[in-house]
Amino acid sequence: MSNPEPRIGVIALQGDFEAHLAVLAELGVEGIAVRLPQHLHTVDGIILPGGESTTIGKLMIEYGLDDVLQRKIQAGVPIWGTCAGLILLAKETDNALLGQPLLASMDIRVRRNAFGSQRESFETDVSVPVLGEAPFHALFIRGPVVEAVGPGVEVLATLDDGAIVAVRQGTLLGTAFHPEVAQIQGRRDTRFHHYFLRIVQSIKL
Ligand code: GLN
Repeated sequence: MSNPEPRIGVIALQGDFEAHLAVLAELGVEGIAVRLPQHLHTVDGIILPGGESTTIGKLMIEYGLDDVLQRKIQAGVPIWGTCAGLILLAKETDNALLGQPLLASMDIRVRRNAFGSQRESFETDVSVPVLGEAPFHALFIRGPVVEAVGPGVEVLATLDDGAIVAVRQGTLLGTAFHPEVAQIQGRRDTRFHHYFLRIVQSIKL
């Protein structure tokens, strides 16, 4: 019988993976820092962290993780991409670098570094109805925006100007901001991680 507690692999090649592992630890969920294909064998869900999508993509290939990640996506293993991770998941990217390795799985088009230089990094409260009434304090760090979504994609959050910043397509989840460092009333806001864990649990049951 499989272990009832979910194990979450966090791709730990570059970027903000430690903050995700810290949130999982706070939630009492086993998080595994993934650097090699064998680290993914027993995971029930995968987080692709923020960082630099070009670097993470290159390292993904160097460490032999791209094929196994594609297989996991095909097998319906839940995957959550935050920021650079969302770029890696998107089927289309307006301004990917030539030859930039991508997983290209979610039916969305994204624009990298979408918020011009004045708003390269900013924080704002975002309404995310699936997380409940309290707004989510979202930190954007040279984040992407979702410019178009396919018919099977649910929009989970938009900014006041209509920019799409959180999406879900079945077992694939994407956020343009960084829930791993979000706070609510002086504490960590773990609602997005809970939401992802619910997707993972629903697949495991
Ligand atoms: N601008 C980065 C990229 O294109 C993403 C930034 C982030 O993940 N905070 O990959």
